[in-house]
Amino acid sequence: MAVYEYRGQRLDIPDNDSEYRGYFEAAGEHRLVVKKCRACGLLRGEPGPGCPWCPSLEWDWQEVSGKGTIYSYQIIAHTVIPSFRDMAPFAIVLVELDEQSGQPTPDDGLRIITNLVDGNLKPEKEENVAIGKRVEVIFDDEPDGISIPQFKLSGEPPKGETWQHSI
Ligand SMILES: [Zn+2]
Repeated sequence: MAVYEYRGQRLDIPDNDSEYRGYFEAAGEHRLVVKKCRACGLLRGEPGPGCPWCPSLEWDWQEVSGKGTIYSYQIIAHTVIPSFRDMAPFAIVLVELDEQSGQPTPDDGLRIITNLVDGNLKPEKEENVAIGKRVEVIFDDEPDGISIPQFKLSGEPPKGETWQHSI
């Protein structure tokens, strides 16, 4: 059992955990991984043992580039989680990774939920967050050894038109 602390909260990762252990082991090497179905070969970013596209429960970790585009986002103005209160307001973004965009149907893609931070791992300013902006993974190396993948703006030209909530 690996026990970590993140922002005052305990994180337990049992040795027999198949859902998160490989994810954080890869993050410790500054690699971002997602699940790849052994049957149909499609990648997925959401937790859970089953493939959303076929009946298979067999999968392997697959490294991805860590580059993507903000597909959607929400600004968290208030949080009930005490250890995150000093971060608010902060952005939670749905990132569409560059791999597998438009598959298996035109409206699908490989998407993961993440915080959007700046280069110093502080919450990105609300006025800088917009749908269509390009992002890349950044690894938050915590003092007790766990590394947490987050995303930051990459500075690349946006993908198409950008859109943001009126501030
Ligand atoms: Zn599958």
